Amino acid sequence: MSSDFELAPIRAQFPALQQQVNGHPLIYLDNAATTQKPGSVLQAMDDYYRHHNANVHRASHTLSTRATQAFESARERVQRFLNARSSQEVIWTRGTTEAINLVAHSWGMNNLQPGDEILLSVLEHHANIVPWQQVATRTGAVLRVIPLTANGDLDLAAFHALLSPRTRLLTIAQVSNALGTVNPVAELIRAAKAVGVVTLIDGAQAVGHLSVDVQALGCDFYAFSGHKLYGPTGIGVLYGRAELLEQMPPWQTGGEMIERVSFSGTRFNRPPFRFEAGTPPIAEAIGLAAALDFLAALPEGWREHEAALLQLLLDGLQQLPFIKLVGRPNQRVGVVSLRLGEIHPQDAGELLDQMGIAVRVGHHCAMPLMESLGLEGTLRISLALYNSEAEIEALLAALARLPEFF
Ligand code: PMP
Repeated sequence: MSSDFELAPIRAQFPALQQQVNGHPLIYLDNAATTQKPGSVLQAMDDYYRHHNANVHRASHTLSTRATQAFESARERVQRFLNARSSQEVIWTRGTTEAINLVAHSWGMNNLQPGDEILLSVLEHHANIVPWQQVATRTGAVLRVIPLTANGDLDLAAFHALLSPRTRLLTIAQVSNALGTVNPVAELIRAAKAVGVVTLIDGAQAVGHLSVDVQALGCDFYAFSGHKLYGPTGIGVLYGRAELLEQMPPWQTGGEMIERVSFSGTRFNRPPFRFEAGTPPIAEAIGLAAALDFLAALPEGWREHEAALLQLLLDGLQQLPFIKLVGRPNQRVGVVSLRLGEIHPQDAGELLDQMGIAVRVGHHCAMPLMESLGLEGTLRISLALYNSEAEIEALLAALARLPEFF
């Protein structure tokens, strides 16, 4: 572990971590579901509501000007985070789910034809499956599914075999929320672009762990949620390449997204506003920008810290004979799924909760993946940068005790 990385000052910034749950200090290991929020994020949102709250755009008074400035500078903050060319390529959404639905409805419904193929992988979250099933049903397009290898990596040979002249879209997670697999998205995008395929990356589980550069990746769309990287719920982002966004019709309509409305017709606003109907989540956008500032200000070594925690966890789990890891991908982040022999994941999750340890059990919104593995569900441990070695040791000790209860 990086010796100059100090965890205590970072943990101290997270109020929710400083509590007891069921009589034990909280050990929060459900970070793939949502992360806890640092004080600076809470402060930014509180400050906005206390001092600047007003609706944005068309400002005619001081508070509205301030709110608009804070809201649009949050957009620029996201632009820098993703290294997008322009903040006009940053569309606010409620989260990854809404961002993917935006692409499905605006681009998918208007560009796909019967027989066109949508290429995705078996490890997708339902948010990157169901919208495409809907599009397929309505347009006659077909879903093609890239399988995994036995250890839980994407089967690259199958990917290359499935990429065909009929493929119109590649839509794929950068990181699996169930197995922690990191997909080689740069390589996939390169292959897809070479044959003119539009690409969408579901970055929900990537942004909190990996650095992202949409220009270097070369993707057309990139979606993520604020709440998975220390920001608030209710805010997410769709990055879209300007050339594509220009050509896309609105999905939701109403106020904000128009340039001119009359009963004889409506002229739509330019991107990104064309895709942001109604009053946006202003405080949440400001909170997300604060989360990105928090990440940028972290001392060096936090990624190494996360990697060391993951290694500690994997090594410890190997020592527990009744535990079987689900997937051993070559490249992974700190998301680990496991089975516990005769012990049902649900029972294990409840017992851990009694010990103050929060993990997730179930299908993790990846039922097709579970089906392909022949499983109903798993127990999932997911790490964040504020987790400590002591917490991993405590989890391992708690897991080791579980067979005593059965
Ligand atoms: N994709 C992945 C890989 C996810 O992990 C999640 C959240 N669990 C989503 C999409 C959906 O994100 P949200 O619920 O924030 O819209």
